[in-house]
Amino acid sequence: STNSSNFIRSTFIEYFVESHGHKHVKSSPVVPLCDSTVPFVNAGMNQFKGVFLGKVDPPCPRAVNSQKCVRVGGKHNDLDVVGTDGHHHTFFEMLGNWSFGDYYKKEACQMAWDLLLGPYRLKPENLVVTYFSGDVIIGLPEDRECRDIWRAIGVPESRLKALGAKDNFWEMGASGPCGPCTEIHHVNPDGSLTEIWNLVFIQCNREADGSVKALRRQHVDTGMGIERMAALLQGVPSNYDTDLFRPIIGAIQKHSNGVSPYTGKFDAGATLDSAYRRLADHARMISVCLADGVFPASSLNLKQIMRKSFKISSDVFQNPQLLTHLYKEVANTLGSTYPELVAREKDARLIIEHEEQAYAKMRAGLVKKWKDLAKRYPEVEEMGDVEMAGFALGYKEFKEAMSKHKSSTVPGELVFKLYDTYGFQEDLIDRIATLNNLEIDRKGFWKLLSEHKSRHKAVFKEQTSNKGLLFDSAIENIIKNGIKSTNDQHKYDYAA
Ligand code: ATP
Ligand code: MG
Ligand code: MG
Ligand code: MG
Repeated sequence: STNSSNFIRSTFIEYFVESHGHKHVKSSPVVPLCDSTVPFVNAGMNQFKGVFLGKVDPPCPRAVNSQKCVRVGGKHNDLDVVGTDGHHHTFFEMLGNWSFGDYYKKEACQMAWDLLLGPYRLKPENLVVTYFSGDVIIGLPEDRECRDIWRAIGVPESRLKALGAKDNFWEMGASGPCGPCTEIHHVNPDGSLTEIWNLVFIQCNREADGSVKALRRQHVDTGMGIERMAALLQGVPSNYDTDLFRPIIGAIQKHSNGVSPYTGKFDAGATLDSAYRRLADHARMISVCLADGVFPASSLNLKQIMRKSFKISSDVFQNPQLLTHLYKEVANTLGSTYPELVAREKDARLIIEHEEQAYAKMRAGLVKKWKDLAKRYPEVEEMGDVEMAGFALGYKEFKEAMSKHKSSTVPGELVFKLYDTYGFQEDLIDRIATLNNLEIDRKGFWKLLSEHKSRHKAVFKEQTSNKGLLFDSAIENIIKNGIKSTNDQHKYDYAA
């Protein structure tokens, strides 16, 4: 059909290949091979970082692709908003076009505009465009050139806005290529805006010491979220109602034990709908990571998201084995574009089953510990079941220390011990204090915490400069695939 996600993807690629002389480059895996600055590939440009920095020859003057992206951890981390809105996912596909020192702002804006109004048939009166307003610290002025390009294209003043670095200066991570950008937003029926496409003019690099240096050449790097475009063109209120998510949400219900269907509500009371969204989102992220050879044993991010998914699957949907069914559904919706999802299905299923059993065992152990704790300290019943390995031990230590301490304030040292030794998050410590009618010595805690953080930073710096490689998953991949030198990351894998 003329609005399916497959149509959106192939239209994008054909447009840039056939009408504008780009070369189609395959998506890289979501594992940031040999790049310790990001936990996952978070944008289409990651695999071209070396080209932007002038360290590697460009594979071609102009490229186009659809890249598998994961935004969990690091500078671009959308995990916490997943489920609460209809357009941020942990995994999404980014359609992008690149100029490696070839065309620049004027051509990039014109090509984007023509694609949106032409093949995608969007109405210009529903689009709002932002551009960079300048930043003293970064050392760049307002991007008037960009503003004038949009004026010439015909975007009226009322729909053209200058915004600061937070929105219109794109950066890959704490360091790496960056530059001013221009974002194209769509006006929703309720007047709110959804960003659909970002055009970055890569002209700088954020160095490890935080300074921003100009690059020798200027490049174009763009990214459009296919899920958002699908929602728009399919005329549905959120990404979860598109052909990319509906089959997964349907499979959740089908394999759940008598749970009502998804209704698409976003208000505070929509806990079931939000569980549907989170599980559907996480199923895609987990499937893609497993298909790309990320192991939960070596990626804490992946392991945590798998555990969250097992919890939702068993607590809300009453089927701990749901994730295995969802992998199949993800492979059905994305397997023709990313065949590794089909090829790695058997391995992925084994890993999911293994992790699910480990999770079930851990849960059973926690429930037992929890019941023992509640026998001794009945007040913890009020907190509900805290799913955390060291909770019982930490709580016991807290009670014993406070009974000796005889004060209504929890001392900073004890708070820090709960935080650092037992892994209690601040909100959990708050709940424990409230439960026991105690205050917290926050100042004392923060002081210890900031001392700890600066120590940690120094160690981290030392490790990164010694090893270069930080992420176990990347190392594991290298061992498995036999990549011998860091230069190998620059061998591109062209689509036929
Ligand atoms: P937003 O402001 O909505 O968080 P962004 O500015 O962080 O988006 P970019 O880094 O510019 O996003 O990424 C390029 C495009 O990728 C965006 O215009 C959007 O269409 C899409 N996108 C970004 N983050 C997500 C996400 N978490 N889930 C789905 N699509 C996303
Ligand atoms: Mg964002
Ligand atoms: Mg944005
Ligand atoms: Mg953006």
